Amino acid sequence: MRYYIDVILPIPIEKLFTYEVSENEADYLKQGMRVAVPFGKKKIYTALVFRIHNEPPSLYEAKPIDQLLDEAPIVSPTQLEHWLWIADYYMCTIGDVFKAAVPSAFLLESETIITKNDKFSLPETALKDDEWLVYEALQHQPVLKVQEVSQIIDRKNVFPVLNRLLDKQVLNLKEEVYEQYKPKLVRYIRLASPYTSEDRLQVLLNELNRAPKQKEVVLNLFTLEAATRKPIKVKELEEKAKVSSGVVKTLIDKEVLQEYHLQVDRVQYAGHETKASKVLNEFQMEALKQIDENYKKHQVTLLHGVTSSGKTEVYVKLIERMIAQGKQVLYLLPEIALTTQLIHRLQNYFGNKVSVYHSKYSVNERVEVWNHIMENNTKAQIVLGARSSVLLPFTNLGLVIVDEEHETSFKQFDPAPRYHARDAAIVLAMMHKARVLLGSATPSVESYYNAKLGKYGFVELNRRFGNALMPEMELVDIKEKHKKKRMNGHFSDRLIKEIEEVLSEGEQVILFQNRRGFAPIIECETCGHSAQCPNCDVSLTYHRYKKQLRCHYCGYHIAEQRSCLSCGSSELNTKGFGTEQVEVELKSLFPNANIARMDSDTTKGKYGYEKIITAFEQHEIDILVGTQMLTKGLDFRNVTLVGIMNADNLLNHPDFRAHERSFQLIQQVAGRAGRTRKRGKVIVQTYNPYHQILQQASMHKFLDMFTDQINERKQYKYPPFYRLIKLTFKNRDYQKLHEGTNWFSTSLKNSFGSNVLGPEQPPVGRIRNEYILNVLVKIPPKRSIKEVKTTIRKIKKSFEAIPQYKAIRIILNVDNY
Ligand code: ADP
Ligand code: ZN
Ligand code: ZN
Repeated sequence: MRYYIDVILPIPIEKLFTYEVSENEADYLKQGMRVAVPFGKKKIYTALVFRIHNEPPSLYEAKPIDQLLDEAPIVSPTQLEHWLWIADYYMCTIGDVFKAAVPSAFLLESETIITKNDKFSLPETALKDDEWLVYEALQHQPVLKVQEVSQIIDRKNVFPVLNRLLDKQVLNLKEEVYEQYKPKLVRYIRLASPYTSEDRLQVLLNELNRAPKQKEVVLNLFTLEAATRKPIKVKELEEKAKVSSGVVKTLIDKEVLQEYHLQVDRVQYAGHETKASKVLNEFQMEALKQIDENYKKHQVTLLHGVTSSGKTEVYVKLIERMIAQGKQVLYLLPEIALTTQLIHRLQNYFGNKVSVYHSKYSVNERVEVWNHIMENNTKAQIVLGARSSVLLPFTNLGLVIVDEEHETSFKQFDPAPRYHARDAAIVLAMMHKARVLLGSATPSVESYYNAKLGKYGFVELNRRFGNALMPEMELVDIKEKHKKKRMNGHFSDRLIKEIEEVLSEGEQVILFQNRRGFAPIIECETCGHSAQCPNCDVSLTYHRYKKQLRCHYCGYHIAEQRSCLSCGSSELNTKGFGTEQVEVELKSLFPNANIARMDSDTTKGKYGYEKIITAFEQHEIDILVGTQMLTKGLDFRNVTLVGIMNADNLLNHPDFRAHERSFQLIQQVAGRAGRTRKRGKVIVQTYNPYHQILQQASMHKFLDMFTDQINERKQYKYPPFYRLIKLTFKNRDYQKLHEGTNWFSTSLKNSFGSNVLGPEQPPVGRIRNEYILNVLVKIPPKRSIKEVKTTIRKIKKSFEAIPQYKAIRIILNVDNY
């Protein structure tokens, strides 16, 4: 009897591969364990065991495996079933899913590059001989390939050694960027609690009569607190009281003053006690009751709660119950909403039961979370994560929360698997018989429609917590303002006046502009030429700080030009504007204000957002300018004004969701204003103040927007009525691409007729020197989506067999929106 295993390789190949194992190995192996296998001439891959059996492959001779890698499965059976569903539904390979799902440390291969980890701190004696050899080599060579390691230790099977070295943190994998987290620890000062009552303070001041400098400090602290209602920095106090740091230190030693760091104390300080936030108000209570009711009939419930209605606190209650039952909870949210703000908030309630899974975290952190989940360890009972955390090894999932369920970033576009995390989470929950709560202030048209149809349960929260009013929205007609010369740069007189007022009250402002950079285009006044990217069909974007013109698609850049590249004229002018320009104009309009910018240029790195958000929370920034990342569920207490610099460029996207998205975006940005005491104000600058969507957004008319949109979708055959599969074709040779795509789309039309649209060139028709054509297949409501996919797969097979089309890349995108 001979023994074989079918394995999943982390590469985009349709089939599973079969390898031969010994009887002992067959006995030992289980589905979900990893093995190292040879592939091709010299490659070694880490593969995942799928099936153990006795049937030799018919088309090739099975090679023996190289090495066993695990003592226990690293992937759970339900997880594997879910991966298979993803591969099938989103038309990719199981290898694509495998590769996307596991941390790279699980996927050593012969080409992997390793480097020394400078944080390694164990004594060298902690290393075994073979480990030490690798360690030694890394002292002399900065990088090593896995193949080279094999020569160093004179052995073929190096993965076990490398795995041990990874565990001991001796080495890093090259693609990992490690960033040391340096929380910003600002020193703050306050009166120690015994002295906060008025009579005790009086006694204290009397006692300090003999130490006038110390008394001065206490008095100044008192006036500062009263005047600013903000945490007081030690530095600030020393300056105000005109004393040296020694005096403050004496008071701290005497336990009159207390020093604290906001990084640690932030959650407590924000003004609301953690204990109080646990008691739901009547509306939240009612919502919770209704959610429970809904769960009797529905597996999925949609919670439509306006911004700041206290949805998160409702989630917390649901989580508490699941935890009490020993179940796992997955809390999904868009990448950019995954801030320390929310992490701290949940940790405040659930302590170390909360684990965060984030692509910006190091491999070690991710492996740790993975293992905790696989072992159903309480340390990862609540997993907070972005999109890819639906691929984790849950074994006992009870609840999935999808916060901001309307967010586009739940959909992965590139590379495969091109899955939608919300939809994949619903399927995952079904497999676990778990419940799902979708939450949003502006639900997607699809989810809202599902709720209306009765497919999902539906619960509303219409009131902001603490009865804070919804912000007041004002549409400002900038065409009119331009005519009347009431514009200063890109600021209308209305917006300027509101900013002035808010600043004078010591409150904060958020300004939104949906474009980074300084100005999208620099155009020649004389001949109309603007600099183009040589690799892509787009104009270069002007970045003022770097004095560069950059391509946002491929990263190509050149130095800023003083004269036209085409005619040499020096009359150049900017068209459109981005966040950088808003920031520059602001600085000259409000020279005394602290201004900062938050967009993908200023938030690189793991803690990029954190730094800016923390500074804004601590009111070191008065005005924050940013792109959409400002819209994501952030909770700033002191923001009373939000300005949308130009609403029109939101509306003009060539996409059937453009209007829905604009509504969502405006509502979400607006939701950052006036979350507490004062009613917030939102100024929306636009050339089209009478545009339907702007009107609806400014009057908070979600239902009107939904009704209009769903009617349009029905009329023009879009989701949720028709399903969409987009096929993208790419090649460097435009002629060949055109022919090939025509061949493919003709075949599609033979099967699906007029429900096939294209080939069509996208707005940017060439990226990194590859031309692009799209074909869209619309699937009518009654047609089986499975059959459609089977047909598409068949056509693709025939296509790939045609020699002259071989080089054309095809990308399939199911539910491409
Ligand atoms: P949403 O998630 O709907 O935007 P949040 O849950 O963030 O709203 O709540 C908005 C603010 O109101 C938060 O600062 C939160 O701490 C506070 N809040 C919500 N519910 C309560 C409650 N029951 N008791 C005390 N504070 C609450
Ligand atoms: Zn480019
Ligand atoms: Zn010119």
